[in-house]
This record gives sequence, C-alpha cells and structure tokens, in this order.
Amino acid sequence: MSRPRSTSSSSSVDRRRLWRDWEVLCGDIGERRAGTPEEHRAARFIARRLAASGLDSVEILEYPCQSHRSSRVDLAAREGGRWRPVEARILAGAPGCAPGERELVWLEMPEESPQLSPGSLRGRVVVVFGPLPTSARDHRRLVAAAPDAVIHVDERLPFSWTKSDGVYPEWVRRYGMPTTVAMAYLDAWRWRMAGVDRVRLSASVRLEAARSPTVSAVLPGRDPALPEILVLAHHDTQAGNVGADDNASGVVALLEIARQLAQRRQRPRRGVRFLSFGAEEQLSVGAAAYVRAHLADRARWGLVVNLDSVSSPLGHWAMYCVGDRALARHAQVTLAGHGLSVAPKPEVTPFGDIFPFNWAEVPSLWFFRTNTPGARWQHHSPSDSLENVSVEAVARLVGALVPMVAGLADAARWSFGARLPLTQRRIIARLGQELFGLPRRGPRARVERRLS
Ligand SMILES: [Zn+2]
Repeated sequence: MSRPRSTSSSSSVDRRRLWRDWEVLCGDIGERRAGTPEEHRAARFIARRLAASGLDSVEILEYPCQSHRSSRVDLAAREGGRWRPVEARILAGAPGCAPGERELVWLEMPEESPQLSPGSLRGRVVVVFGPLPTSARDHRRLVAAAPDAVIHVDERLPFSWTKSDGVYPEWVRRYGMPTTVAMAYLDAWRWRMAGVDRVRLSASVRLEAARSPTVSAVLPGRDPALPEILVLAHHDTQAGNVGADDNASGVVALLEIARQLAQRRQRPRRGVRFLSFGAEEQLSVGAAAYVRAHLADRARWGLVVNLDSVSSPLGHWAMYCVGDRALARHAQVTLAGHGLSVAPKPEVTPFGDIFPFNWAEVPSLWFFRTNTPGARWQHHSPSDSLENVSVEAVARLVGALVPMVAGLADAARWSFGARLPLTQRRIIARLGQELFGLPRRGPRARVERRLS
C-alpha cells in the first residue's frame, strides 16, 4: 500500500526546523551521557524550544544519577602464538578490574546458566554469548560464580564493532556486578575458531555522582479536572555516539508535536504535558525519579505517548501498547487514517521511559521504528549519527500523531479504559520489583486497599 486513506498532515511538519533542532542536539552538542554538561546543555535547548512554542510552566527538574566520566579497557588474546588486541568497551555502571592474564571460558546464555555454581568462575574471564541476564536469578548465579570479568557478545547481528550498553543500577546496588565489557561479535567468532583460552584484560572506569536534567512543559487544557496526555522522549545517550536516532529523533518529534498543538486556535479540553527525560540509558533513571517525585499527581496522568528511536530510513513502525485492547485499536485506526500503518504489540517492556508510568498504572503507547527483527543495527554505536536518520520518517510519525493526540486531548471521554489488564499488571509488578526495586503493589492498588 502506498497511498494513505485520507490526507496525512505530515505536509504541515516544518522539516527545516526539525532538522535544525536535530543538528543542534547531535552536531553542536553531540554525545549526551547522563549527568554531563552536554546533557544539561541539551535540556536547556529543549526547554528554550518549548518555551518559544508558547508552552506553560517550562522547567528543568534534576534527579541524581551516576555519571560515567571516562573509562579505558585493554583486551588482548593469544592468537597464533602472539598477543593481539581487540576493541572492547566497559558497560556503563560496571566496575573496572586490575590488569592480569587470565584463563578464558565460554558461556552460552541463558541455557548454560543453571550449570554455574558458586565460585566456579573464580580467577577466570567468561565470554557470555547471548543476552546478559535479564532475570535476577540468572544474574545472581553469574555474580556468585565470581568471574574476574565478563565479556559480553551481543548475538543479534554479526557486528564488527562493539556497542555501548549499561547495567541495571538496582542490580549493582542489590547483588553486585562483575567487571563487564562488550566485544564485537566477529572478534569473538575469530577467537572461538582460533581456540583462544588466555586473555589479558584491564579495565578502569571513573563514575561520579551527578544530576541529570528532565524538561517538563504543559499545554494547559480547558478542563483541569480531566486526566492529561503525557508525551515523552529522552535526550541522553550512551557513550561513544551522538544518539541521532536514540533518541534525538524522539526529542525533535516531541518539539514539533508541541509546536503544532500549541498553534491550534483553541486550547485542548485536556492538558498535554511534554517531558524530555535524562538518564534513560541507565534504565529510565530520570523517568523513574519523576514518577516517584510526582506520584501525588497520578490521578492526572491519563495516557503516556513515548517517542524513542523513530527515524530509521528503512524500517517498520512498532507500537508497544500497555492498556486494554480498545486503546490499541483506537491508536491503530486513528493513525492509519492519517497515513501511518502500525501493528500494535500488546507487550510490557521495562526498557523504556513508559515503564515507571506503567508501574503507576498509566496506559501507554511507545512508538519505535525497527530495521532488524525487534532492533536497529546502528543502536548504541557511532553509526547512530545524522547520516543514518530520515526526516521523512519523523515527519510521517508527527503528521499522524498530532491529529491523534489532538483528538484525544479534545475528547471528554475516551473509548478505552483507564485500568491496565490484570495480566499486564502482574508482569509490571514483577519487573518493577526485580529491575527497579519498586514496591510490589502499585500506588493505585494501595489507595484502593485503604478505601475498601
Ligand atoms: Zn532510547
């Protein structure tokens, strides 16, 4: 299908302005790790843009974070009788390790995790092929096996480069974390073929307690009693890339949506709040702190719309829906009517700024554009640059989202429910406790218990 069913409003998107904003974030400012002066510069720029669009109560809120200031990793293996260095990066938030030569062992995750026993990896370096543990039980097994260090190989594509990633801050606090570095898939492949069994590794890292900025602004509604729509993006990046897609794309989309909604002749019935978070790349530290700090406003949060990584030139639109089927249906039909075909995924995921809001039992839609199954090849690498983004992709999303958000903001009633399905609430409660250290029962459940 190439022709939208009705007129798309992507023609009203100011592409030049959108591109200029993108250039400021990724060109003038560049890498924007949590808690750095560059992240603060980005926040001030976003706040100025929102104020210039005529939004109210523009403010920059600050929350504590760990700031990854600098790191150095030296990794080499004995290949063909000589030591050969390979590129490696420490995962943000993981500790360093002293230099030394160590035995190398291989672990295929998650299926070999049950074979780990306490102390079984002591004095060794372990290559983990597959995802790093996403369950606390597997993580605790790995920590108890006490490796000197973990080398992670992302299995999703045969990369020749290493990606930058982070570790869950809550797990570092609660269970500890071995030194964890990432290496390229193709280097690991070569090591395996060559039968590498000794490595030299040293890793040093400087982490500092810092503050990460979140920008908040409101387009006030005519009826303050009605729950608001929250439009989210995040402006921070991992180390070593300018995050043009992840997530300057979401920020420039948010700025354009704010501008277009603020320009409408009449104010919406409901308020629309715009939030650009910091420290998302540390597992939504900024969004989680915001939700905790503003939990008293919970009754005002009606729906969250998150924009994160939305500019892939080739790709598929994804929409993660947390909420009832009527929400997914409403979004799908409305967006299709404005030229954007997207299949809803009724999936809970903790890897986005929607999650702390879901924990507070707020329904959400997360828009995302993939170019490999479930992911993006340039993710967290230097290729996440302005050369690899599409203004047209963002314009299409904005062109469909503006009428959807405007329609919802003007509606006195919504066709979907305010409650999340029980199956989703259960998953959210477990993930909230395991990954974020959030209390098992959400705030609404506690209020309801008190009232009953
Ligand atoms: Zn992101």
